[in-house]
Parts: sequence; C-alpha cells; structure tokens
Amino acid sequence: MARVFNFSAGPSSLPLEVLEKAGSEITDCNSSGMSVMEMSHRSKPFEKIIGECEETFRRLMNIPENYKVLFLQGGASTQFAAVPLNLMRTGKADYIVSGQFSGKAQKEAAKYGDARIVASSKEANFTYVPRVERDEFRKDADYVHICFNNTIYGTKFDYIPDTGDVPLVADMSSCIISEPVDVTKFGLIYAGAQKNMGPSGLTVVIVREDLIGYANPITPTMLDYKVMAENGSMYNTPPCYSIYIAGLVYKWVEGLGGLEAMAELNKKKAAVLYDYLDSSKLFKPTAKKENRSMMNVCFVTGNEDLDKEFCAQASANGLMNVKGHRSVGGMRASIYNAMPMEGVEKLVAFMKDFEKNNV
Ligand SMILES: *Cc1c(COP(=O)(O)O)cnc(C)c1O
Repeated sequence: MARVFNFSAGPSSLPLEVLEKAGSEITDCNSSGMSVMEMSHRSKPFEKIIGECEETFRRLMNIPENYKVLFLQGGASTQFAAVPLNLMRTGKADYIVSGQFSGKAQKEAAKYGDARIVASSKEANFTYVPRVERDEFRKDADYVHICFNNTIYGTKFDYIPDTGDVPLVADMSSCIISEPVDVTKFGLIYAGAQKNMGPSGLTVVIVREDLIGYANPITPTMLDYKVMAENGSMYNTPPCYSIYIAGLVYKWVEGLGGLEAMAELNKKKAAVLYDYLDSSKLFKPTAKKENRSMMNVCFVTGNEDLDKEFCAQASANGLMNVKGHRSVGGMRASIYNAMPMEGVEKLVAFMKDFEKNNV
C-alpha cells in the first residue's frame, strides 16, 4: 500500500522519517524495553524525552530564557478559556476577529470579562486580516488576542500588531514552526500540535514569565499556567506519546536547517500553488493577496458541483482531503512542513488536467 498525499488541515501529514523512526521504536524505545506509550511519565527515559523535546523546540524557535514552554492538553480550544482565566487581571482584553477560531476565542473570553472586538473581517467572509494600529487598542487592556494564521480561510497576518506595553497573545496552531517568529514580540503563543508539530492531544504554550501567577481564583487547577510551569507540565500525566512525536518532528526540522530553511521550502511550495491559481481560468484563490497563508491554500471554481467533482477525482488520484472546511465549502490544500514539494507539484498537475477537461 503506497502512501497518499494528505492535504488535511489537521490532524495532518507527518514527516515519513518521523513515522518510520517512531515505528522502529514502537516496542522498544532507546533500549528501555518498552514503548513510550507504556512508560511512566516520572521515569528517567521519559524525562529525557520531554527534556529533549523542550530543548529542541527552544532552539528552533529561539525562545528567550524568560519564557516558559508548557506541554498541555485540551487542544487550542481549551486555551480560548485558559488565556482569559490566567491573563485577565483587570477584566479587559481586545480581540481581532479574523476567522472562526478567533471568533470562538473571543466568545469564550467574554464569559470571564470584557472581551472587546477591536476589528473583524467577518463582513468579507474572513477573506482578509484587519490592520489595526496601536492607538486602536485599549492602553489598559490586559492583552490583545490574535489568530496568526486562519486555518479555515487560508489567511495570515502580514504584520505583527504593535500593542505597545499590552501583551500580545497569538494562536499559532496552523503556522507554528513553519517560519521564524520573533517570540519577544509576544506575551504568549499557543498552538495545538496536530497541524504542524505532531499528533493531536498536545497543546504547546510559550508564555512570558511575568504573566504567570495572576490566574483568576476560579481557574481550574489544570488550566493554571503557574501550576503547570512549577510542575514541568507534569502536574498530572502529560500526553506522553504526542510529546515524543513532537520531539522527533522538532529534530527533523532542525535537521533540515531550522526555521529559516523550513520557511524557504514553504515559500516555494506555496508559490507553486498560488502562481498556478493566479493564472488559472477555472480555479480562483479566495484570500486577499497580502494575507495569503503559506500553510492553508483556499480556492474555488465558483460552481459547487464542480468543486465536489474535483475533490472526488483528486481523492481517486491519491490527493486526499482537499475539501474546504464544512463551513465555507470549496477547496483547501493544507501544505504544512511535512508536505513535500512533490505533493504540491502532483496537485497542481492534477488541477491543470482538471481545468483542461472542464473549461
Ligand atoms: C485547529 C485550530 C484550532 C482548534 O484546535 P483544537 O486543538 O482542535 O482545539 C484553534 N485555532 C486554530 C488556528 C486552529 O487551526
């Protein structure tokens, strides 16, 4: 059975080398005589796994000493609540709503305080990312929240908002480790692992130390960053196997040359798709040019039946999961780090054939 090219938005493709390495260690990891799935999270072999995972991630992302890295559970969606519970000291936060997930984050935060929508692109079906200037944010807000890459709509921030002294919080679930980011520009970054880092079940939080320790008293212990930081993400049993795979993925990215090299590859892959989309008479890209995502490429034919036919034929040709999110329709090709150039080229060749037969 040959492997397919999987364009799923998440859970998504993992590097073949990582899967093969994990496969070779499935019954005996590092001469421990057991699988990582069977190990105590308090054991020496697992301490080494989580320690190396964090070290590699810190090197990759160039994370300063004054930031904690937490390996948590509950998906990015749990952070929609954890962020306001931990960071809303005075009860005010500003949200830029640039897609469905940032909308959900804002709604969740509104349960705990005044979560103001500073700007939204909802009226344009989230085809662009609003530009917000420093003086539009409240100076006394506890934080500003953005979703850096909008997975469902295929848009990405082409700038980092200047929030002055107000900490910037970013959901980077679908773009983390796809290119370098200046962590110091952010108070907190969070990401579900299943888009670009590993299997589902793991959520990574990077948080500046001075923001920890002010959780709302009603905060569930499991969502309190202070508790998790003090316990090395092991207040309870962490998602051990997902952490192990994420560690292998980080090493794989490092082996390719780190985030600069990864960004070059990702730029080239996205350009192959967008260049074709810009010249196609059948397919139209949906995101505004300046806000195009390198990770999630969304497009339509303008005819729903033809979109369906395209997705069906693509699947039959080993190009899986190019159907758009159920809320928007059309097509979406997610081309995260693990998608090789070959997969993108095969998709474009298939699209060209489909275009020839359908215009
Ligand atoms: C997938 C996704 C989420 C939701 O992630 P879960 O881990 O399923 O909760 C949130 N934000 C973004 C940007 C996503 O891509």
